[in-house]
Amino acid sequence: MLLTDQIMVMLATQVAIVIYGLENPEDDLSLDWIRNWQQIIIYPAPFQNGRENLLNYDGVSVSWKGFESGETSYQGEIIIDWQDDQPHALHRNASQVLMHELAHKLDMLDGNINGHPPLHANMNETDWFEAFETAYEDLTRAARHGKETAINPYATTSPAEFFAVMTEYFFESPQTLEKSYPKVYQQLVAFYRQNPLKQETRRA
Ligand SMILES: [Zn+2]
Repeated sequence: MLLTDQIMVMLATQVAIVIYGLENPEDDLSLDWIRNWQQIIIYPAPFQNGRENLLNYDGVSVSWKGFESGETSYQGEIIIDWQDDQPHALHRNASQVLMHELAHKLDMLDGNINGHPPLHANMNETDWFEAFETAYEDLTRAARHGKETAINPYATTSPAEFFAVMTEYFFESPQTLEKSYPKVYQQLVAFYRQNPLKQETRRA
């Protein structure tokens, strides 16, 4: 696979969109938000994750072996598969996969990958949890009953996956998210400091 200029520009654009409102020296000390972003590795197709299937003492799966379209760890690189930018089996495209993994990176900044990144000083923890927990439970219930949902049910895998998938929708399909979970949408407006629906973003 050849890493063309077009691919590099597309990836750089996705990264710039995600950090556009976060990295602002007027709002905080800047560059802190991306302190654990070092490298992006692009694979041409879904890749074997190299892990084993493991259950914890309660029988809950904590690690699974299989193919992934994206992976990240706190200090490690971000890996995504490109697949020529064709939609994946989960109805995602490569740019969504990258934004998804970047959301995991942000989530990890406070030491836990739990769907809760460090919030800005002007945000309210209770509002965040209320919006996300309600939406997570709603989607989980709908998915469990086999209902067709506007949001990809992969989000119900865990609160961490939920935050990453909500980030995909926030940037790639904001109407869908705003319609399904307006409170989550509003929390993400506050977190990413931009409003994709209104294109009411800060201009230098
Ligand atoms: Zn994920």
